Amino acid sequence: SNSSSYTWGNPTDSTQDYKPGRKKIRQNMSFLSKRRALPIWPYKSEIIRRIEQSQVVIIEGETGSGKSTQIPQWCLEVENVSKVVCSQPRRIAAISLANRVAHEMGVGVGDEVGYVVRFEHKSSLTTNLKYVTDGILVRQLMTDRSLEAYDVIIIDEVHERRLVTDILIGLIKQILPYRPELRIVIMSATLNKNKFSDFFENCGNLKIPGQIYPIEKIFSPAVIERAAFGEDDQKRYEKYVIQAINVVMEICIMERTQGDILVFVTGRDEIDYICEYLEDLCVTYKDSMGTIDIIPLYGELPYSSQQRIFAKAPKSFQGRISRKCIIATNIAETSITIEGIVFVIDSGKVKLSSVDQKCHMKSLLPVDISKSSAEQRAGRAGRTQPGKCYRLYSQDAYEAMANDTIPEIMRSDLTSVILQLKVMGIDLETFESIDQPNPDQRQLALERLIQLNALDPYHNVTEIGRQMARFPLDAEVSRMLVASKDYSCQNEILTLAAMLSGDRPGSVFVLVGKKKREKAMEARGQFAHPSGDHLTYINVFNHFKANGCREDWCFDKFLNFKILNEASTIHSQLEHIMIELNFLDHNSLRYSSPAKDSNILKAILTGNISQLAQRDPLQPHVGSRQQFITVLDNLKVTLHPSCTLSEYTQYELLCYSSCLKTNARKSYISTVSSINMEWYDEVAGTTGAPSLMKRRAERMHLLSFMTELELSQLFNDFNI
Ligand code: ADP
Repeated sequence: SNSSSYTWGNPTDSTQDYKPGRKKIRQNMSFLSKRRALPIWPYKSEIIRRIEQSQVVIIEGETGSGKSTQIPQWCLEVENVSKVVCSQPRRIAAISLANRVAHEMGVGVGDEVGYVVRFEHKSSLTTNLKYVTDGILVRQLMTDRSLEAYDVIIIDEVHERRLVTDILIGLIKQILPYRPELRIVIMSATLNKNKFSDFFENCGNLKIPGQIYPIEKIFSPAVIERAAFGEDDQKRYEKYVIQAINVVMEICIMERTQGDILVFVTGRDEIDYICEYLEDLCVTYKDSMGTIDIIPLYGELPYSSQQRIFAKAPKSFQGRISRKCIIATNIAETSITIEGIVFVIDSGKVKLSSVDQKCHMKSLLPVDISKSSAEQRAGRAGRTQPGKCYRLYSQDAYEAMANDTIPEIMRSDLTSVILQLKVMGIDLETFESIDQPNPDQRQLALERLIQLNALDPYHNVTEIGRQMARFPLDAEVSRMLVASKDYSCQNEILTLAAMLSGDRPGSVFVLVGKKKREKAMEARGQFAHPSGDHLTYINVFNHFKANGCREDWCFDKFLNFKILNEASTIHSQLEHIMIELNFLDHNSLRYSSPAKDSNILKAILTGNISQLAQRDPLQPHVGSRQQFITVLDNLKVTLHPSCTLSEYTQYELLCYSSCLKTNARKSYISTVSSINMEWYDEVAGTTGAPSLMKRRAERMHLLSFMTELELSQLFNDFNI
């Protein structure tokens, strides 16, 4: 490859940037001065020239320099370009950017500028600039193989190295030879050396010099034990959560510099907890802290709440500095730029999803961030003036961090992605991606797809596989939907799929404090189905619908309205696909017969055929918290506390939708139903699953009278 190394862009006089032949696009004049001040503005002509000159251009620029908002608009000015798409790893960023850019251009969202994310869109035939998620673009590739719908494709935030982004980049590379006029722009905050330019031969590179003010980095600060934290809280949350609260207090009370605070922690629970705690402290210590506007920021937040981060800090209070304090996940690392941040508090942790290669257990655990993440986070403090970054870890801990985060493609579940590629007719052996997944991971995904009957034993896609791929859902859930036709329970599985595909289905039941707990449990009991969570969720949704989808009804029943409302939207979208596939034409049995329940459970079992757990026969006492062993990989698990089933009952066979390792010691299964043993062979007969039960039983039998050592001896002797 003759990829050149990065060249530094040359600022040019942007007053002359409308070359003859370049189209003028609409703009809202009141935003112009702000846009002109963005670091990227002087490079406008140069960027447009690069895009005109080469098919692939890689642009690297500091977060907040204006890449995601400006470059897509400029692309519209390029000759012969009328349709531009800009793809983002996160839904929240796609929606937020579309809104922002529509404002800047003075047009309505959904007219010239729009967005499309899973289960939600605002776009029309007049939309020339569309913000989408990477996943949407990959789906579009399934029907529009060379993306004829677009003249320029911008892929943003590639440094995050999300699985879907990497797949998208691999797919796009394949269409380049067929569409010489197509332009690709790859954008990133930081890039890992020349990995990307090596991947695309003959591409143009441009680096927008960042302007960052000096940042003082303070490692592992002494904790001020100012607030009285209960022991429960200490146990419930990691130390950095408490430290973060302390440092926020310290800044508010001691710092004389004007400026807002940004705290990086790992997830929504922590964020909600910190926000609540700080709100209380702010009331108690108002005189010494000033007015503090505490704002949560995480991916699943609705767009309107998210807009709060762009508001100005509150007015000062009795001469005290007032500040905004944003408590965020790593979404604020590069995805969303917040003005006015001067203090960053970095927990040094991020929640990463990964799948255990051997036992296919998904985990979502806080892990150490990489050095490059730590630098990005610190960088958020120095956008407008010199800043400070409080690192809630030691210098040694920093030195021990990896340089970069491992790309998702090397650590996650590839089942759905591989099915999509297969349906597109892409040969996995020759599919190029920036980093290759390891062969075990690929094998595991292929095996799962065979068990689901999505692939035949020779790895060809089956009709079932094709139908599954039509749904933008996890492979297990789309398999249930396909099976629902055979078991005449389309409507119920459709409901279940909608509930499982929204954000955090387990949280549909609102957690309440001690006082209200009894009432909440009573309300919850009205929906509980003896077979477990899946049918319980269907019940909840049906009651929600029957009661007119009302927020006050949810409130009374201790149900989360937002989650149900979202499920309702997803429901209608999936229904649409079901109609297209002619699934709903077939009879769906009337509900509320016991036969119906077992049909529903069989359809669920079809999708979750590799997600089964059996009672641990070695378990001593009835009456103690029960342990189960997963069928596929012999892992000890317990029921998650959110489950409908009782932790103390010895169920023979359970089928679960998720298995999660929440810390080093505990593995939970959640969204669990109890399954009749006899159903297994019936269902396994309709899928590609081997008779797992038999294998499992054999193994259990051996285990019950042999020690591990004896077993391995035996296997050795017989060379197994
Ligand atoms: P980059 O892609 O280089 O990180 P962006 O184009 O996203 O930069 O952001 C450029 C500027 O526009 C930033 O100062 C950011 O704060 C501002 N901005 C982006 N989206 C919004 C929004 N929805 N509301 C207000 N300001 C925004």
